[in-house]
Amino acid sequence: MVRSVTDDQFGAPGTATPQVRQFIGGARVASASGRTFETSDPWTGQPIARVAAGDADDTRAAVDAAHEAFTTWSRASPHERQGIFLRAADGVDRRREGIVSLLARETGCTRHFAEVQLDFAASLLRQSAALPYAALGQVLPSDQPGTHAVAMRRPVGVVGAIAPWNAALTLSGRAIAAPLALGNTVVLKPSEESPLSGGALWAEVFEEAGLPPGVLNVVTHAPGEAGSVGDELVANPLVRRINFTGSTTTGRRLAEAAGRHLKRLLLQLGGQNPLLVLAGVDLDYAVNAAAYGAFVHQGQVCMCARRIYVERAIADEFSARFAAKVSTLPMGDPSDPRTVIGPVINKWALSTITRRVEEAVERGARVLAGGVAQPPCYPATVLTDVPDDIELAFDETFGPVVVLEVVEDRDEAVQRANASSFGLTASVLAADSVQALAVARRLNAGIIHVNDQPVGDEPQMPFGGTKDSGWGRFGVGSAFEEFTELQWVTTRDDERTFPF
Ligand code: ADP
Repeated sequence: MVRSVTDDQFGAPGTATPQVRQFIGGARVASASGRTFETSDPWTGQPIARVAAGDADDTRAAVDAAHEAFTTWSRASPHERQGIFLRAADGVDRRREGIVSLLARETGCTRHFAEVQLDFAASLLRQSAALPYAALGQVLPSDQPGTHAVAMRRPVGVVGAIAPWNAALTLSGRAIAAPLALGNTVVLKPSEESPLSGGALWAEVFEEAGLPPGVLNVVTHAPGEAGSVGDELVANPLVRRINFTGSTTTGRRLAEAAGRHLKRLLLQLGGQNPLLVLAGVDLDYAVNAAAYGAFVHQGQVCMCARRIYVERAIADEFSARFAAKVSTLPMGDPSDPRTVIGPVINKWALSTITRRVEEAVERGARVLAGGVAQPPCYPATVLTDVPDDIELAFDETFGPVVVLEVVEDRDEAVQRANASSFGLTASVLAADSVQALAVARRLNAGIIHVNDQPVGDEPQMPFGGTKDSGWGRFGVGSAFEEFTELQWVTTRDDERTFPF
């Protein structure tokens, strides 16, 4: 019997390290090469499981299984598809405590952010359950007498889904839920950092909910070996769409390869998200909003505030209060419900954050809070006077570091906010919404929050960025556009005359 990855005893200290296989064609399979890798807890460093290390061969097998399952699944009744999604939502709800614990152990996720992910996932599945019954097209007027024309939405076939580790449950969830609900079949490649919460768990939930074999397949791989799986998904002609959430570097690489194969991609990439704090704002509110927006999930969310621009009139007071609050955020074991700042995902991430902060300080930045690694954590850190030409200023640093800069007025705030190659989210905090909205309208980002911080998502919202933050939109409301093909169909009720 396959032990549930959300079981109390799964990989518990003192027990044998469990083996987790891939999920291909409805079966739990070892990798074709027989290789495995260990996934470990970022807080304790202890192994959690040994996982199949798949590669291009496994991916090909998964794509073949998905292709074979497509005809039947795409014709399954709306009733059958809806039932599976409703049962999957119940399955997620039933595993709630187990998933909180798995997310903490596998990704260093605190209870708060696990709850955010769980609420999103259950809602995503229940909203996706409505998709099989959504109208599939339009009747179009034609100037040809006797011609009836319609535009009809049809599933595309096999969808490749590549997801990151940071919100493993929700980001793998949104990569597969709407595509499946619309009648596609899927090959999911979770991150090497979250093969359980971003992969095996979804296989388990959907299998239990009655999803037929081959409709969802999960291919896992060892660290550093994502390329062989990704390249196969992009090049395999049976894969008709790819959706990707992750770094801009990887997204660019995939887009280049997809261009060669003329394959459509949905890309949700990094952000360097600005938060504007305007004079007159309620300072307590602004400080709390900024602290949450910059440091939820220890800053490892693509939407996190990375740059705070504060108007000079309130800069001293805001900076002092903000730094004071940030310095007190509790750090430590992510399974302790009081913890706000858990461990960062791995040593590589910790060293990148450390190096970037050190470089900023060498170049004249001042540390207002944090600034020294406490492995496996990095404390919530606020820097100011950061030169524009260093990585911390212009690139996404995936961790608990925010840059706070004083601006003369809102024009300068807007100009600096827009002076970025990214355009994912942006936020404006001001005394009233009208004032804030006027400023927000000038910002170039896919998502703008007025009088709120930049981290937030709901399954039905059009989620995505501009510029180097990506193309296309996740969200149940955008799913038809992203995961179906529009087909123009005409029928005639009599014979027409031809000129020759
Ligand atoms: P992050 O920094 O958020 O982990 P990555 O872009 O490295 O961003 O990872 C996001 C996802 O992309 C993960 O599933 C990872 O395994 C995958 N990935 C990394 N490199 C490649 C690649 N060359 N091709 C396809 N997927 C990749």
